[in-house]
Amino acid sequence: MFRNRLRQLADRSLLRRLSPLESGTGPTIQHAGREVILLSSNDYLGLATHPEVIRAAIQATEQYGVGSGASRLVSGTLPPHADLETSLATFKGTEAAVLFGAGYLANIGIIPNLIGQGDLILADRLCHASLIDGCRLSRADFRVFHHRDCAHLESLLRRRSANRSTLIITEGLFSMDGDLAPLSDLVSLAERYEATLYVDDAHGTGIMGPTGRGTIEHCGLEQRIPFHMGTLGKALGGHGAYIVGPNDVIQYLINVARPFIFTTALPPAVAAAASTAITVMQREPERRMRLWSNRERLFTGMQQLGFRMTQTVSPILPILVGDADAASVFAERLLAHRIYATAIRPPTVREGTSRIRFTVTSEHSADQIDEALHALNLAGQETGLLF
Ligand SMILES: *Cc1c(COP(=O)(O)O)cnc(C)c1O
Repeated sequence: MFRNRLRQLADRSLLRRLSPLESGTGPTIQHAGREVILLSSNDYLGLATHPEVIRAAIQATEQYGVGSGASRLVSGTLPPHADLETSLATFKGTEAAVLFGAGYLANIGIIPNLIGQGDLILADRLCHASLIDGCRLSRADFRVFHHRDCAHLESLLRRRSANRSTLIITEGLFSMDGDLAPLSDLVSLAERYEATLYVDDAHGTGIMGPTGRGTIEHCGLEQRIPFHMGTLGKALGGHGAYIVGPNDVIQYLINVARPFIFTTALPPAVAAAASTAITVMQREPERRMRLWSNRERLFTGMQQLGFRMTQTVSPILPILVGDADAASVFAERLLAHRIYATAIRPPTVREGTSRIRFTVTSEHSADQIDEALHALNLAGQETGLLF
């Protein structure tokens, strides 16, 4: 049975395999005995390996131990957890914040407590799997609207029966396309139709907005979007997730969100590292500057080579290939030229939209980006993507 399923996946070029690194993450990594340039990491600001962030994790481990010993509501709320929740609320300018073990857990924990059976969810079609799973768990009716299409969303809102509780779900910065949600229009629709807007800003946190508070800050909507979730595992370089918002929302979730209640608290080191990462990110805005100038260099180069890309406006730079098999072959050719960038295939993206999702960070040098462009040109010729 298992072997059959695996063979079916392989036949469709959809088999996934782990590809272990021989080093930590960084602009370059060790892979299969060679040094290669990594263009697949979400550690956009290099905070995963920042000495101060590492030191905070070591200190917290020495002071509080490796594990938290219990779930948050039992005896697992240690000083680093409380400190991080305070830092997050201060950073985001909200009353309160609460941590989750990961973004996946946050979404499946929060959504079913915002909406339920008989209610309606309208979600952008490209929403992350964790959002979709949260929607399924809620048992609400679930419809998708075309990607970033507010006219389509409005037509769905108009057609629903009167007074039906409705949750609109979107990512802030879309993880697989690198484009932004039309948050301003989404907020207006939510207000006009008395729906609740739920924004997952996993990728926007730390890189979008003048001070890195995320996509909502970037769009100037902090006063109109009372709560939202984000993660600590991408630009903040660590692990975990949060929701920030009014105190009553946070206290409610602490009482009802099962993936918050029934799991061991994050390790103290992880919480302490995230607090320090937030401090460093705010104190060193030059990281964001470097990120955006690297993004420009790589994006312009890719366009000049003639690749077909998404409507990206961010350091997520997907090259569209289409076919899952062709995407895998392109990734293999790139690796042969010492570029590590993974093929993203269904079900992560829709059938026929397989791609290589490149991400650039503040830590890549101009030389590394130029080397990557050289490799892209060669691999593009070899696979027939470029003529
Ligand atoms: C990565 C991601 C998540 C999951 O976060 P983890 O902390 O990795 O579990 C959720 N939503 C979006 C949009 C993401 O990109």
